[in-house]
Amino acid sequence: MQIASLHDSPEIFYSLQGEGVRMGTPAVFLRLAGCNLHCSWCDTKYSWKKGVEVSVADVAARIGSYDCKGLVVTGGEPLMQQEELAALLELLPPDMFVEVETNGTLIPSADLLARVGQWNVSPKLYHSGNVAETALQADALAAFAALPHAWFKFVVQGEADWRAIEALQLPRERTILMPLAANREALAQARPAVAEMCLRHRVRLGERLHLVLWDTKKGV
Ligand code: SF4
Repeated sequence: MQIASLHDSPEIFYSLQGEGVRMGTPAVFLRLAGCNLHCSWCDTKYSWKKGVEVSVADVAARIGSYDCKGLVVTGGEPLMQQEELAALLELLPPDMFVEVETNGTLIPSADLLARVGQWNVSPKLYHSGNVAETALQADALAAFAALPHAWFKFVVQGEADWRAIEALQLPRERTILMPLAANREALAQARPAVAEMCLRHRVRLGERLHLVLWDTKKGV
């Protein structure tokens, strides 16, 4: 499978889940290469290009070496490598909790649906620079909305984003708003307005723990 390359190494590392309802949970992170969107504010643009080819057996061994029962599969867009990902998950211990971060444009296979414990779906709004016809796929979002263990994380810039979010008709009780910010300082400045949005629309405020803890550092 194609793993994103950071500092000439496949990006597999141990950290804390930085976002969503399992924020703060220790997990191994696996960053897959390739993305079908091109967000202007993407903080992992290096993952868009061809990554490092690593066998699923080798990836499973590297994940196992951390002795951790949590795995976060991220990207890029992990669902561009569904067959390889399903083969990898087959090799992992059954009690390993698997989360997948996705942009919500692709429908997961039955094999993945049977194994993944949580879907962290992050649809991209207009300020990502993607056209809505590409970034917002109604059939895929409906498939995720039907899963009780799928959560929807939106990076928001301000109140104007709410109309676009509401139009998607996703479960409000599983919707999380996070401030658009590229670093710790910008996050601190943007957070109060997004908190007000969450209060107004009765949805969760999402933290971006990796920015709080490590600012712009990669691979942590
Ligand atoms: S979907 Fe995610 S990985 Fe892909 S360009 Fe957007 S922010 Fe980056």
